[in-house]
Amino acid sequence: MYPEMNREFPPVFDGHEDFITQVKEKKAGFPPPAPRDLLAESETGHVDLPRALKGGLGGCFTSIFLETQWAEMNAVGYAMEEMDDVFAVADRSEGRFRVCRTVAEVRAAFEAGAFASVFMFEGADPISWSLKELRVFYEAGLRVLAPTWSRSTIFAHGVAFSGHLPQTGLTDLGRKLVSECNRLGIVLDVSHINPAGFWDLLAESKKPVIATHSSVKAISPHVRNLDDEQIKALAKKGGTIGINFATMFLRPDMQRGTDVPLETIVSHFEHVIDLVGDEHVSFGTDFDGADMPDCVKDAAGLPVVLREFKRRGWSDARLERVCNGNFLRVAAEVWGC
Ligand SMILES: [Zn+2]
Repeated sequence: MYPEMNREFPPVFDGHEDFITQVKEKKAGFPPPAPRDLLAESETGHVDLPRALKGGLGGCFTSIFLETQWAEMNAVGYAMEEMDDVFAVADRSEGRFRVCRTVAEVRAAFEAGAFASVFMFEGADPISWSLKELRVFYEAGLRVLAPTWSRSTIFAHGVAFSGHLPQTGLTDLGRKLVSECNRLGIVLDVSHINPAGFWDLLAESKKPVIATHSSVKAISPHVRNLDDEQIKALAKKGGTIGINFATMFLRPDMQRGTDVPLETIVSHFEHVIDLVGDEHVSFGTDFDGADMPDCVKDAAGLPVVLREFKRRGWSDARLERVCNGNFLRVAAEVWGC
């Protein structure tokens, strides 16, 4: 009933996808149910299981993202609702969409031609000062945590898309959050945190740190992108950077236009490789969370990028690392399973 997994390239494990915010399994009335079924091929959005399989997209860190009003109203409740939606998709998928908690489970999903979904929180809004929720969400499968989205939490401050947010780094509670994530085996994500928080987090963490969905500031000077000093520091820490395909993070003019040339996408990957080597760059598309370049369009379009890597002479070993090896290396080290 589902297409076979495209095996033209190693399966892509994507650092960041927002599909669950568009796919409501339950009809609770708020937020309003979305019409899209994640298991049926659709014309809208960027990811569904058939398009993922056609594009060789083997899995992702599935973002649990809360709109600011939900985060303020009942962050724990809405996070649980989104996670429950993901479990419901898995239940209906006949084993082709799996919630994974270990690297072995991710690899087994690749092997079986199934999609491997791993929970990440894009903002620690559901975690309170006591940190007690963290352990419970860990048991439910939470394996990646960003201390904040582009707003403030009790732990850290994000980079503001507009307006102003504090420029200060991690709070005292933020430092405790980092050490508790290290202890439990949750990977920390610096994609939305402000520069002061970035440097505090890297100094505080005893484990590798990742940027799940950020691009290169030297090419596109957007506040959400990482500068060369940050890229070098993340690499030194053993981490990896998922290149974000949001058009405004790719384009040198930071505009939303979707006519982004393929070579602009590839240039972000190659900039990181030239700077720190191919062990520190990955995919972080932001599918279903941003405007995508026309040349990729959606999950089924990933082979367009991979064929261009190959045309440029990338070795099989490099393709493997960038497609999934770098994220899974960090995961194995931090999760310990
Ligand atoms: Zn984001």
